[in-house]
Amino acid sequence: MGGETLLKETGPREVFCGLTSIVWLHRRMPDAFFLVVGSRTCAHLIQSAAGVMIFAEPRFGTAILEERDLAGLADAHEELDRVVKNLLERRPEIRTLFLVGSCPSEVIKLDLARVAQRLNTVLKGKVTVLNYSGSGIETTFTQGEDGALKALIPLMPSSDQKQLLLVGTLANPVEDRLINLFKRLGIENVSSFPPRQSTNLPSIGSGTKVLLTQPYLGDTARELIAKGAEILKAPFPLGVEGSTLWMKAAADAFNIKSLLFESTVQPLILRAKKALESQKEKLQGKRIFLLPESQLEIPLARFLSRECGMELIEVGTPYLNKGLMGSELDLLPKNVRIVEGQHVENQLDRVRGEQPDLVVCGMGLANPLEAEGISTKWSIELVFSPIHGIDQATDLAELFARPLNRHQLLNHKQLTPA
Ligand code: SF4
Repeated sequence: MGGETLLKETGPREVFCGLTSIVWLHRRMPDAFFLVVGSRTCAHLIQSAAGVMIFAEPRFGTAILEERDLAGLADAHEELDRVVKNLLERRPEIRTLFLVGSCPSEVIKLDLARVAQRLNTVLKGKVTVLNYSGSGIETTFTQGEDGALKALIPLMPSSDQKQLLLVGTLANPVEDRLINLFKRLGIENVSSFPPRQSTNLPSIGSGTKVLLTQPYLGDTARELIAKGAEILKAPFPLGVEGSTLWMKAAADAFNIKSLLFESTVQPLILRAKKALESQKEKLQGKRIFLLPESQLEIPLARFLSRECGMELIEVGTPYLNKGLMGSELDLLPKNVRIVEGQHVENQLDRVRGEQPDLVVCGMGLANPLEAEGISTKWSIELVFSPIHGIDQATDLAELFARPLNRHQLLNHKQLTPA
């Protein structure tokens, strides 16, 4: 590790729940449906998070637990059976149905694993029913994807063939570009998990080398290891440096000659570094404070400090998995303060005391901080944006430069007499 200061904090939290990840998962697997078993609050959350992007029939919905369900499980089971039956009659194209648990379903101890088992018996393989928790009781919003992927792993066929498996949802064009690059390196057998169709699951076994594309997949990684796969140690593919080292980890695992790696990747690196310069000018020397929410904070901090010249005041992360994050921690500047967990009030006090140029935080904290004159970047935006790979480094930097530009323009307007 790089000599950083690791602290832990517990207390009140202000984060989105795992239901949020349905927004990108349902786009990734159009033949799957996500049925939230929750309250009207859950339905509102998921609709407002995704509503603006829905043009056709949505591929998610909510089976509402009414107040009477909270008193008796029998009603909840009946309601769920009824909703699932109606849904599958109306939407015969659904191949995989995820029952997504919520705070209310967990509070009444509704056993969705048993419900899924019962429905699978009734449906006789026409539709596969799986379950995972999207509840916000102990989790953050990206962990919804971790839960969904973990639920799919038992369905993956076994195979010991040598292959590279990219794990974590990527934007399709970004994924195509990365797979194409691996092919140019001579790594032909590359699959993705989650796949673009829920029924088209990649195989898994002792020949599988895994590159994680997202840092929040700890449970998934553990299950893949249990199936014989090897998780390649690398930083995450954010920025030029992280993406290059990430690809190099695969190249080494597949014995690709350094010369071929260099000649394939160097032109991309040179082009990306040149393009990054204009954003770096805006970010260099600016002080940034990352509050914990997405689990992307540490890789982002590494990119912003090493490639954009930003000064890290504090890097918050909801959880710190040192196994998956080791390569990232090695690259962080010495003595950087990393805080695992959250006590939102103490963190906000530190933000106010430090007066950073930019704060990365959840949407709920952004408005109050903006009202106090502090620029913010929503961490959720980073999960929805195509930011992975060498080619995307400039776009990633621009996401941080934009709020600083806006802040500067607003200040300028206020200072300029009409
Ligand atoms: S799962 Fe929990 S945190 Fe998420 S919307 Fe429902 S009640 Fe709120």
